[in-house]
Amino acid sequence: MSDSSPSSGAVLTVPAGLAGAERKPAAESYDKDELMVQQQFDELLERCAPICKSEEDYDRIRQAFYFANEAHKGVKRHSGEPYITHPLAVARIVVVEIGLGVKSVMAALLHDVVEDTDYTVEDIEHRFGAKVASMVDGLTKLEGAFSQDISKQAENFKKMLLTLSDDIRVCLIKIADRLHNMRTLGAMPKHKQMKIASETIYLFAPLAHRLGLYTIKTEFEDLSLKYRFPDEYNQIKQKLADTEPQRLQFIEKFNPPIIEKLKENNIEFEISGRVKSVYSIWKKMKRKQVSFEEIYDLFAIRIVFKPSPLIPEKSQCWHVYSLITDIYKPKPDRIRDWVNIPKANGYEALHCTVMGPEGIWVEVQIRSVRMDEIAERGFAAHWKYKMEGKGGGEVGGDNELDQWLAQLREALNSPSEDAVEFMDNFKLNLQVSEIVVFTPNGESKTMPKGATVLDFAYEIHSKIGNRAIGAKVNYKITPLYAEIHTGDQIEILTSQNAHPQVEWLDHITTAKARTHIKQFLKRDGENNILRGQELFEAEMKKRGVPLQARVFRKVLPAYHSSSKDEFYSKLGAGIIRLDGLDKILKQNAASKIMKYWTLQFANPFRFLSSSSGTDGHSAEADEYEYVMAECCNPIPGDEVVGFKMDDGKVEVHKKNCHNAVKLSAQHGDRIVPAKWSSEKVMSYLAVIEVRGIDRVGILYDLAKIISGELNINIRELHIHSHDGIFEGTISLYVRSSEDLKVIMDKVRSAKGVEKVNRTEASMVD
Ligand code: MN
Repeated sequence: MSDSSPSSGAVLTVPAGLAGAERKPAAESYDKDELMVQQQFDELLERCAPICKSEEDYDRIRQAFYFANEAHKGVKRHSGEPYITHPLAVARIVVVEIGLGVKSVMAALLHDVVEDTDYTVEDIEHRFGAKVASMVDGLTKLEGAFSQDISKQAENFKKMLLTLSDDIRVCLIKIADRLHNMRTLGAMPKHKQMKIASETIYLFAPLAHRLGLYTIKTEFEDLSLKYRFPDEYNQIKQKLADTEPQRLQFIEKFNPPIIEKLKENNIEFEISGRVKSVYSIWKKMKRKQVSFEEIYDLFAIRIVFKPSPLIPEKSQCWHVYSLITDIYKPKPDRIRDWVNIPKANGYEALHCTVMGPEGIWVEVQIRSVRMDEIAERGFAAHWKYKMEGKGGGEVGGDNELDQWLAQLREALNSPSEDAVEFMDNFKLNLQVSEIVVFTPNGESKTMPKGATVLDFAYEIHSKIGNRAIGAKVNYKITPLYAEIHTGDQIEILTSQNAHPQVEWLDHITTAKARTHIKQFLKRDGENNILRGQELFEAEMKKRGVPLQARVFRKVLPAYHSSSKDEFYSKLGAGIIRLDGLDKILKQNAASKIMKYWTLQFANPFRFLSSSSGTDGHSAEADEYEYVMAECCNPIPGDEVVGFKMDDGKVEVHKKNCHNAVKLSAQHGDRIVPAKWSSEKVMSYLAVIEVRGIDRVGILYDLAKIISGELNINIRELHIHSHDGIFEGTISLYVRSSEDLKVIMDKVRSAKGVEKVNRTEASMVD
């Protein structure tokens, strides 16, 4: 057992008072489980060699292990293994895969002690000092964490992130904790799997990505997919395995010329092939609606070179690029230069796509050893290089990640945000798809994709944001809500009279803008709410209508408000006016039901059919299968005319469509007079299932999305939530599958929604 690894000093010397008293007689003292635990700990100590500077460091890790091992004694995981194997595995991830130090390893070993045993944070502090204790505290969930209360979950997340702003290591250990839980998720009951896998894809994968932990992010995504959509996951996995030999064959043809060329130029390097992750393949298949076979960029070639100390890394990246493109022609629009402008999470590399043998495009990633380590280990490596002063040279001042942390601190300090809002806000902060834009004096700013002029204004300064009225984007006057794009140069225009509006919240994507706008509105809003309330109450009094709940049920949606406060403050701020109030109040429930439109055709052939012995009435209600003409796309209410086509269907045109005019002229005998009718209801009942992460307001959002669609009416909506997941069925009337698809896409894009599918459909009258 322990004698196999003397360097690790793994002889189990249990301090008196901790474990010694309970040890079984020597002969049986190491049963199978204990042996396994001991082996795992030995291995951990070995892996800690690079971070332990003295025997003292080893000792502290040992103490933490003994303490945790004793505290979790007798407790098993779902898998049946001793509980301590979990903290051990987390500690191992912390040191091997993330690259953290001794204190983090200790905190990882101790991370579940306070939560799951009678020991307190004070006990930890007493034994291991304040730093480790505060890390363990940050890793301890709040009481009642497993309750079904969504806000509890959010509170826990907030707690973790508050610690994060002081000590990023807590967050990294939390990621390690989640990673091990995901790796062992198979042992959990099904509904827990779903909850944990969903949380992972919603928060932890973006968090890992934001911190530059690409490998872990990818594993999060893959594992999450494996439990959320097992069939699809397995299919892709199988196909990847089946096509492996082909890929290897191709790489054997593709690589040698590159290897030769780089060697000729005395470059020290490693070359490897990477297959895309199952998740990214799955995502691409969904997004582009293509099959596995249609994805052409299944793999990439990676070149990691050891830079020569005399030439800047950046130049060497481009040198390697130029050598490769001497061999294979590059695709001009597929160069990604994260060497000059690193990604916000610190990622640096040069990516290009080249034409390989057999006419196949291949992505090539070029990185220095340093860049590679940052890509693999993210944050930890980033700090390491920063401390050592080995930065890649003139990378443009402060690192983006530092700025992000500063921003995060700012957001975290914003007062009185509730936990759910905080979590959503944080999610915004995790956005990683980026564009690079410039200030008038050429300073570059990295913004999330989809950012608007307004986001940019707040990015410069909250005072600029609060006074913004528009911008000059590339010298052209541009409105506040316009989206900005990579390469834009933006000068914000301000006015002393301008101030934030509620609507602004709909036209921003950054957490920073959101926080500042909300802060302003809160200050301003309190006055507005009062003013609005007075106004509304006066109006209602005039009409003699009491302020009952049903009044608000009509008024709020009519004025696009989700709460009384929102309604009052919009009213008080003059954003909405009470035009049409009488009409809204008179509305009764029935009038909310949408009319179903259908087309009625007069049968032009009935006069011809009299010879067959039937008379008028049988043909009167004739209905044709019809299609809307693509040239003019008529909608209900338009004046229309039909043309009988060869297959018997009727093609419906607007009356003023020039094709209709032409057809009438040429084939007058095929005209079918048509008019819209709202009396006859022709629609389909479709049932869709929705599943996602529960959050406040989800029900309202779903209802809003669906009822916002013309011609869609909800028959039933059942939602129930458990363990932070909601599941529901929505029955609705749609006119066509096209309608249904639109609705499903919209529902799918709602915040928190994970899965939407159709279950059954039947035709109703
Ligand atoms: Mn844990």
